[in-house]
Amino acid sequence: MGRRCTACASPHRADIDQALASGQAIAGIARDFAVSEDALARHREAHLPGALVKASEAAEVARADTLLTKIQSLEAEAKRIGAKAEKEGDLRCALVAVRELTRIVELLAKLTGELERPAPKPVRLTVRWEKISLPDGSEGTQRVVEFGE
Ligand SMILES: [Zn+2]
Repeated sequence: MGRRCTACASPHRADIDQALASGQAIAGIARDFAVSEDALARHREAHLPGALVKASEAAEVARADTLLTKIQSLEAEAKRIGAKAEKEGDLRCALVAVRELTRIVELLAKLTGELERPAPKPVRLTVRWEKISLPDGSEGTQRVVEFGE
């Protein structure tokens, strides 16, 4: 007890972890990396889970970063095309660019968890016309907008 873990100390630690995580037989790993089977078994119980969690978190962050960079370059591209189309008077194309930008913003929001928030309650909107008396005595109509749940 209290001894240094030879699997952790191995220069092949990453390979050992990967082999263990992929479910390879301990005997084979012990042979390949010159670490005892006992040490590997202990390492798998005590040290591997933490290492795997860290690795998958790092991969997750890296993946998100890559996605974010990609989406941001798409955003720049859509803006560029939109501005060009607008300048050339090609409004249809400019509109497509705006639509694409909307999608990109949605993607970005999804990526940053913005859309995971619960959607706001729908609000009922009632519009009706009411007859009113105008100052000159005649009748007119007034638009009334009501918000309700
Ligand atoms: Zn270890």
